[in-house]
Amino acid sequence: MMQFDEVRQLLSQKRKIVLTNHNNPDGDAMGSALALYHFFMKMGHEVNVVVPTQYHESLHWLPGNDTVIVAENSLQMAIDLVNEAEVVFSLDYNGLDRISFVGNAIESCSAVKIMIDHHLQPDEFVDYALHNTQSSSTVELVYEFILMLDQEALIDVDIATCIYTGLISDTGRFKHALFTRRPFEIAAELYDKGIDPGEISRQIFDSFREKELRFNCYCISEKMTMLPEQNTAYITIEQSDMDRFGIDYKTFESGALLAQGMSIRGIKLLVLFIERGGPVKISFRSRGDVNVRDFANAHFDGGGHKNASGGRSNVNVSATVERFLSLLPELNESLQMV
Ligand code: 5GP
Ligand code: MN
Repeated sequence: MMQFDEVRQLLSQKRKIVLTNHNNPDGDAMGSALALYHFFMKMGHEVNVVVPTQYHESLHWLPGNDTVIVAENSLQMAIDLVNEAEVVFSLDYNGLDRISFVGNAIESCSAVKIMIDHHLQPDEFVDYALHNTQSSSTVELVYEFILMLDQEALIDVDIATCIYTGLISDTGRFKHALFTRRPFEIAAELYDKGIDPGEISRQIFDSFREKELRFNCYCISEKMTMLPEQNTAYITIEQSDMDRFGIDYKTFESGALLAQGMSIRGIKLLVLFIERGGPVKISFRSRGDVNVRDFANAHFDGGGHKNASGGRSNVNVSATVERFLSLLPELNESLQMV
């Protein structure tokens, strides 16, 4: 492992930097990558943002979005950039299995690898890691990273906007993952940089297309099963459901649907199963002591955070649900706690 002084030294000369984040990047992943894009450009580096897959259009307004290279659309270019890079950043993910299209290139490239992340149990594929599971978001750590380089003065309104986007995305507008006062302090500092918090919030959260809102309401109304004894609900989405509303699974953003489901009084666990061409994608959200990271990790080849995790399953949706229901008693004790 490198020391931070070596990182500082490394970045004191012009470098070819590639910034990467995870599959189906969310506001924190895109905010982290684009904040560092603007920051390193200002420092005089040669910078590229390479993301593995497409992402929801509610993030396309972010400053610098035009420069983003989507590996699933331009695979060779993405791999070439990684192979030519001197420094590769892994942002908002801690295992190469979360970055399907470029994972191998990152593993084998000769660049110095730096991880900035807040998920539990990082894999050891990097040379330096700024990693803290008590951080609300990766952008929080991106902000700390800029401060560690003594470059706070370089934070302009574009960088601040990207960081604020990640903050409100991962905290659900300052609702969860608030383990310290730091997210609030950072938000205040970003405010002083001239961001427009109302407008950023609207761009991220009030940007549904009609069909997306109708689809989410349909999922809650028709596709959600309640298990009142377990304080649990689960939602299943199959290809035919998405076809009916013209929804593309590649860019479907499940955050709002999950938040809606978690707004049920007394709910402790919500699980979303989505058919996605390959393995079924599973999202878990929970409250309190219901540890969905361990559950996803033990049974569904996944991980994440204690109260928000994801995983996958290689059998179809109904068989996956059956399996989930057979495993649910493992969580019974924490699901019954007040
Ligand atoms: P989401 O349900 O929004 O896709 O993911 C919720 C959280 O779990 C996110 O923090 C995400 O990074 C993490 N997560 C989702 N899928 C996986 C996975 O397959 N493996 C791991 N390790 N984490 C995941
Ligand atoms: Mn994150």
